[in-house]
Amino acid sequence: MEKKPFVTLEQAQALAEAYPTPFHLYDEKGIRENARKVREAFAWNPGFKEYFAVKATPTPRLLQILKEEGFGVDCSSYTELLMSKAVGQAGHDIMFSSNVTPPEDFKLAAELGAIINFDDLTHIDFYETVAPFQETMSCRFNPGGDFKINNEIMDTPADAKYGMTRAQMTEAFRKLKSKGVKHFGIHAFLASNTVANEYYPALARILFQTAVDLQKETGVHIAFINLSGGVGVPYRPEQQPNDILAIGEGVHKAFDDILVPAGMGDVAIFTEMGRFILAPYGCLITKCIHQKHTYKEYIGCDACAANLMRPAMYGAYHHITVLGKEHAPCDHKYDVTGGLCENNDKFAIDRMLPEINIGDYLFIHDTGAHGFSMGYNYNGKLRSAEVLLREDGSSELIRRAETPQDYFATFDFTHLFDDIK
Ligand SMILES: *Cc1c(COP(=O)(O)O)cnc(C)c1O
Repeated sequence: MEKKPFVTLEQAQALAEAYPTPFHLYDEKGIRENARKVREAFAWNPGFKEYFAVKATPTPRLLQILKEEGFGVDCSSYTELLMSKAVGQAGHDIMFSSNVTPPEDFKLAAELGAIINFDDLTHIDFYETVAPFQETMSCRFNPGGDFKINNEIMDTPADAKYGMTRAQMTEAFRKLKSKGVKHFGIHAFLASNTVANEYYPALARILFQTAVDLQKETGVHIAFINLSGGVGVPYRPEQQPNDILAIGEGVHKAFDDILVPAGMGDVAIFTEMGRFILAPYGCLITKCIHQKHTYKEYIGCDACAANLMRPAMYGAYHHITVLGKEHAPCDHKYDVTGGLCENNDKFAIDRMLPEINIGDYLFIHDTGAHGFSMGYNYNGKLRSAEVLLREDGSSELIRRAETPQDYFATFDFTHLFDDIK
């Protein structure tokens, strides 16, 4: 599918006057339309709730928009919990799906009344020393082996650090039941960034059958099944996007096949999507500030891997549009680079693009999730601003760019200067 930027060159130029490049830009209209489609896809399930995975895009203004669209939040750390509280999320609208959890994180999650999803059997005893058990608690399942759809290996849960074995799930439910827990959830995350409408339905079938079996074995009430994240987006133009309505229908069919006949038609479906919710509705706007002609042709941008780490970290593909040259022939081969002293600081390698001139604006697609959030300060690079393109076409600064003062904020330079004197 053709990848179209959600702003024109003229819009980007106007934005760049107000907010110096680089910056991440988010499309409110696209976000809201997609959020409504997600709810429509699961409207057949009265208890359905999407808990947006905060780690994907921890930006309060965006979390607020998603809250307005009826989403909760999925947190995995202390500060994600605090940010969720700051945007007014509370109680069962917060899912706490953490791993290797410090005690203070469990404590805060319990104080906020969040639903706590245990990653490990041993966490139950650990948790007991920190906070009281709640009526509703959840456990994360890892079925091991390979996870296959139509005989194709999607991922290998046996190699993943997350979740409990099937036998541990039974033990965990029995233990929690003996501690007075009344309602149970089952969670699993088996494959990341899937662009296959079959992922959620296949996962749902595994979890629904597990729920039926666990209910029989332990007699507990299973209140929800959490399908977690993993629904992906087409980063590449040749990929087909997921059809969320078809995915919702696939889960519905599994529900009717497995849970309804077992008398468990009251189970709520939860999801914790991050990427699918925001990735396509964010971009990184960066300007070409240098060109270099050596053994290869290089385009030097004012953004770098500190603003978008995925290409450097996993060789991930992010589509690039040269704004104003959307229809120009892609007849130049470039490495599009940032300024880190690391040779993997390349947004694209040997990419065919239109001829790029200094001053051109590049629209790097699909950075709305796992984009800004993975940023870091290597080489003393500062984190960029984040800007919201509102539905009415106006813009709003939703996170200012870092300053050198922010970068130095963890040092006490006053003291240092005192010593020198
Ligand atoms: C990262 C994560 C998600 C979101 O994953 P996406 O691929 O962004 O949908 C959901 N749940 C948990 C527990 C996660 O760690």
